[in-house]
Amino acid sequence: MPACCSCSDVFQYETTKVTRIQSMNYGTIKWFFHVIVFSYVSFALVSDKLYQRKEPVISSVHTKVKGIAEVKEEIVENGVKKLVHSVFDTADYTFPLQGNSFFVMTNFLKTEGQQQRLCPEYPTRRTLCSSDRGCKKGWMDPQSKGIQTGRCVVYEGNRKTCEVSAWCPIEAVGEAPRPALLNSAENFTVLIKNNIDFPGHNYTTRNILPGLNITCTFHKTQNPQCPIFRLGDIFRETGDHFSDVAIQGGIMGIEIYWDCNLDRWFHHCRPKYSFRRLDDKTTNVSLYPGYNFRYAKYYKENNVEKRTLIKVFGIRFDILVFGTTLKYVSFVDESHIRMVNQKLLGRSLQDVKGQEVPRPAVDFTDLSKLPLALHDPPPIPGQPGEMQLLREEVTPRSRDSPVWCQCGSCLPSQLPKSHRCLEELCCRKKPGACITTSELFRKLVLSRHVLQFLLLYQEPLLALDVDSTNSRLRHCAYRCYATWRFGSQDMADFAILPSCCRWRIRKEFPKSEGQYSGFKSPY
Ligand code: GDP
Ligand code: ZN
Ligand code: ZN
Repeated sequence: MPACCSCSDVFQYETTKVTRIQSMNYGTIKWFFHVIVFSYVSFALVSDKLYQRKEPVISSVHTKVKGIAEVKEEIVENGVKKLVHSVFDTADYTFPLQGNSFFVMTNFLKTEGQQQRLCPEYPTRRTLCSSDRGCKKGWMDPQSKGIQTGRCVVYEGNRKTCEVSAWCPIEAVGEAPRPALLNSAENFTVLIKNNIDFPGHNYTTRNILPGLNITCTFHKTQNPQCPIFRLGDIFRETGDHFSDVAIQGGIMGIEIYWDCNLDRWFHHCRPKYSFRRLDDKTTNVSLYPGYNFRYAKYYKENNVEKRTLIKVFGIRFDILVFGTTLKYVSFVDESHIRMVNQKLLGRSLQDVKGQEVPRPAVDFTDLSKLPLALHDPPPIPGQPGEMQLLREEVTPRSRDSPVWCQCGSCLPSQLPKSHRCLEELCCRKKPGACITTSELFRKLVLSRHVLQFLLLYQEPLLALDVDSTNSRLRHCAYRCYATWRFGSQDMADFAILPSCCRWRIRKEFPKSEGQYSGFKSPY
């Protein structure tokens, strides 16, 4: 600013002047870009199914639970409390479940000797009555255990409830016993057999190999290949206590991740086991915590059909099988996408050959689904930086640019040495202009306008504070790039960004402090 400041400078107002040019060429180019931005955004929105992933493996699971528990039950017989000891074996505590799941009972509440007749409902705020007027003949609601007869009868002492036609006596509303009756189930073991098949590779394997010692117990570091798991150990791995979960029940995920290198002539393929608590352990009493269901054992006594109703609490184990993570790479100077499914072992991703897969076609018919006119302000002709398509001249190589870089704009990875090769990837296979210098990159990936629109489209009430804004925009920009260059969302989730694009996006939406974490495999 000049040092001299006259009064007239203060009373000035500045505005930009918009020039409208009647030009066939500029007009056509402008609309060309608008159509591309529309179709891209609508394509990105319509094809957005981030959480739906294709599983590259076909798997079958078989489980066998073993163990014996001694159960001390308190029962009331003719008004006298008695302690009954019984032994529970596999047939008593496991129930068949569908899919890759098994169930182990850890606790229960029994209602014995039920038969079909008339009896009063269990007293709750909903069922208490003082006279027949409080009950309604034929009435049943989803929470009641039977059909009302219209009479109000004595349940116990001076408490009266509506009479129902039902399995009587009605199950009492009670708390699950503490400690859990089958607390010792933590010593049970489960053997998991898992066979897998990678369809594209004609390769089948299983987790139990001939030489395996079948009397082992899984241990994360000392015995990570043993397929026999002690239930208590599984909970210890997730930081839970078996005896706490056993009271109300819960759901535990056992993840089997097959880390395979299928590209080499000898297939190296071993499972990795991990555990994840799947039910919400923070839910309070009113939100039905844990995992339970009811189960009945039927029998005949003096020719009368009777049943024992059991409210069963226990742990459902869900086994989830994943295969090797595929990675997808796209070079701007190649029409196909490359699929890499091997470990990089120190080689730059740039130099790995991979398998060629066709690029999915963009579906332009989705365009009509987007009602909004979304576009950047019209370009100002003559202003530099506008309307340039990918220039075919090579950008001068920056001094930091690594040897594997073909575009001159890549930077060395910041990741630890073992993960670095994953980020050693350029936008091109052969030397040439960088994709980050293209107009489309600016419009589709770097435009704050488009990114904010996409974020708000997903979460209309999104309030972004300064700190989270950049990281949301940056992550959205990564996804925009991946969706643009890889088309299908299945591939985009596993697409690796070239270094130049990654750093160009980070430059636009930087992190104020700390290191960038980089690509995280969804497994
Ligand atoms: P952060 O913001 O500090 O965590 O670090 P980044 O800016 O590297 O962003 C990390 C997020 O972006 C994670 O969710 C990553 O999975 C995702 N991400 C980073 N790099 C890639 C990539 O190359 N491909 C894909 N598909 N996602 C990536
Ligand atoms: Zn490069
Ligand atoms: Zn580049």
